[in-house]
Amino acid sequence: MALNLVFLGPPGAGKGSIAEAIVKKYGLAHISTGELIRAEVAAKTALGKRLEKIINAGNLVSNEDAKSLVENKVGGLKKKGNFKGIIFDGYPRSLVQAGGFEELLGKFNEKISAVVYIESSEEQIVKRLSARWHCPKCKKDYNMIFGPPKLKGKCDIDGAKIVRREDDEPEIIKKRYRVFLEETAPVIGFFEKKGLLKKYDGNAPLRESIARAEKIVAPLLMQP
Ligand code: AMP
Repeated sequence: MALNLVFLGPPGAGKGSIAEAIVKKYGLAHISTGELIRAEVAAKTALGKRLEKIINAGNLVSNEDAKSLVENKVGGLKKKGNFKGIIFDGYPRSLVQAGGFEELLGKFNEKISAVVYIESSEEQIVKRLSARWHCPKCKKDYNMIFGPPKLKGKCDIDGAKIVRREDDEPEIIKKRYRVFLEETAPVIGFFEKKGLLKKYDGNAPLRESIARAEKIVAPLLMQP
């Protein structure tokens, strides 16, 4: 039986890094809708050009666009074979997406195993996201508090000028947090009512937060 997990939490809760650690350990696939959208933007596709302004302003893209990106990706992963399950990082992010998610997975004979909600305070996420920079050339990530580059503002690997994601600017972070409270927070209750919700306190250093997530995920793998 495949393990399909939804990771929920405000921007900066660590969903992406935690998902990355868990998929590596358990051989799962990782679908980040934010990454899928940024890939479209980077490839300058018609869709990417349309979505770029929306994400840079801190708003959600339409439910239709988000759903079709996820649906294509799930279809591709199922075709590949050796399917062990998926961590959905950043989807569903609205009640409309949540309401249609079981049906979407059902098309591929899959279902949601659990929804993991990573609780994080606003203070914590603003601190985390403002510290998050990367090299636009080689994509190496830098945390300006815990792991800044050796030379100020320059990538350790290729010397390129490091940058912040446009939507990680402080004003846009606040906007994204408001959008989370308005659009995504109701999704938590939606899955709680279905008995699928598992939550934990994510106000901890990343390594500890990963350990807490693993404590939730490991027993799910034992289930028949
Ligand atoms: P993330 O990398 O998860 O923080 O996502 C970056 C941005 O992509 C978000 O601020 C939204 O603009 C957009 N996005 C990601 N996932 C979704 C989704 N499920 N629905 C709508 N917009 C999304």
